[in-house]
Amino acid sequence: MTTVSTSDAAYDVINPATEQIVRTVAMADAAAADAAIVRARGAFDSWRRIAPADRGRLLRRFAEQVDAHLEELAQLEVANAGHTISNARWEAGNVRDVLTYYSAAPERLFGRQIPVAGGVDITFKEPLGVVGVIVPWNFPMPIAGWGFVPALAAGNTVVLKPAELTPLTAMRLGELALDAGIPEGVFTVLPGKGSIVGQRFVDHMDVRKIVFTGSTEVGKAVMAGCAQHVKRVTLELGGKSANVVFADSDLEKAAATAPYAVFDNAGQDCCARSRILVERRVFDRFMELLEPAVQGVRVEDPGLDTAEMGPLISRKQWDTVASYVPDDAPVAFRGSAPEGPGFWFAPTVLTPADPRDRAVTEEIFGPVVSVVPFEDEADAIRLANDGPYGLSGSIWTNDLGRAFRVARGIETGNLSVNSHSSVRYSTPFGGFKSSGLGRELGPDALDSFTDVKNVFLATEG
Ligand code: NAD
Repeated sequence: MTTVSTSDAAYDVINPATEQIVRTVAMADAAAADAAIVRARGAFDSWRRIAPADRGRLLRRFAEQVDAHLEELAQLEVANAGHTISNARWEAGNVRDVLTYYSAAPERLFGRQIPVAGGVDITFKEPLGVVGVIVPWNFPMPIAGWGFVPALAAGNTVVLKPAELTPLTAMRLGELALDAGIPEGVFTVLPGKGSIVGQRFVDHMDVRKIVFTGSTEVGKAVMAGCAQHVKRVTLELGGKSANVVFADSDLEKAAATAPYAVFDNAGQDCCARSRILVERRVFDRFMELLEPAVQGVRVEDPGLDTAEMGPLISRKQWDTVASYVPDDAPVAFRGSAPEGPGFWFAPTVLTPADPRDRAVTEEIFGPVVSVVPFEDEADAIRLANDGPYGLSGSIWTNDLGRAFRVARGIETGNLSVNSHSSVRYSTPFGGFKSSGLGRELGPDALDSFTDVKNVFLATEG
């Protein structure tokens, strides 16, 4: 096995499919973070004054740069994060699309004119200043983009810290921004430790907003730190989403698609439907259909076009996931995974008898799913809501009324009926309960990067 250095000054980035070092990355310290924040504060005064159409044009040029380097970015993510090449291409394309979508925003950041006595009242959506974006390792490109793009479009400058494990694509995006003509200091990527660079973003007075995506535990500490400065904060945290399958649904399709709703990105997805709730009277039939679907998932070298699932991100993550599948675990069946180097974990289906089993209640962040029976609609909603999270979920039924009743009943931010889609750049994304605070993407995100200013102008002497 490769010897890995993880000092505060340098970090060996590991390819999770081979365990080989990809590159050693210099880590910023607190002084470098402070210097970047000061530069970003300086750049804010001119960036916010760039004419709206010009700011939009610069974001479109940035999108063009990402598009021209799409394959390079995708290959970098395969090597750094073990993402399948088809997913990685989608992810780089998502950054481009988010840039294009929000490039229209600077010219549409409308205020209001409110009728009042004695004058004219106008509201403005003012940028906040420096925004600190803190990114996890599971989707390094899209999650970075969902934070920095609307922040820039609204006239803020950005300092961004990628996760220690996966800094490479964010660093490249920082270079592409400069190549596109985005001025120095407007968008700075700072690889570094969470406890050092991330913490400086939280503590520094000149960072006026934090966008944090990561674990609920760290997110709570970030929120507490932001409270010291009444700093704005958006949190995108964990999940334990339910895929609810009713007897009246297209059972074949529900079973054929269920593995991809949880095993995509090796289950390291905050929206993973890691609990499948199945109406009891079709439970056995569903399991019969699920088994070949799980065994059909292609777990292989993520650089292959045919790969559907790659390795886990690290040995540490492998150990965590494995702890949910002890020798006496209620394993119904498993898929396959390559032998040899790499943090490979075969897709695993559990049928715990106790709904309080930690495999049913805790976020595993790996390719392990629990299948649990339910009795009726009320029971399905009760089980889906049983837990601290509320990020995503799916409902399979052919009864339209039931689809809406259950969708309204489940306490979660993003639901799909007869599909497993969670994220579109043009629609809002975020969590209920302990899954987060605020919304990213779509028209809503811009409100998180501006404060409303009200100006009254007297027209009478
Ligand atoms: P993590 O909380 O350990 O780290 C997330 C980021 O926070 C990293 O960049 C890390 O360096 C930084 N960080 C750590 N300590 C910090 C501190 N004290 N101050 C500031 N920053 C700090 O999470 P992770 O292990 O990288 O990611 C996995 C978690 O992220 C899972 O729980 C998953 O559900 C969640 N996640 C949520 C979403 C969502 O949109 N809701 C998306 C992806 C991941």
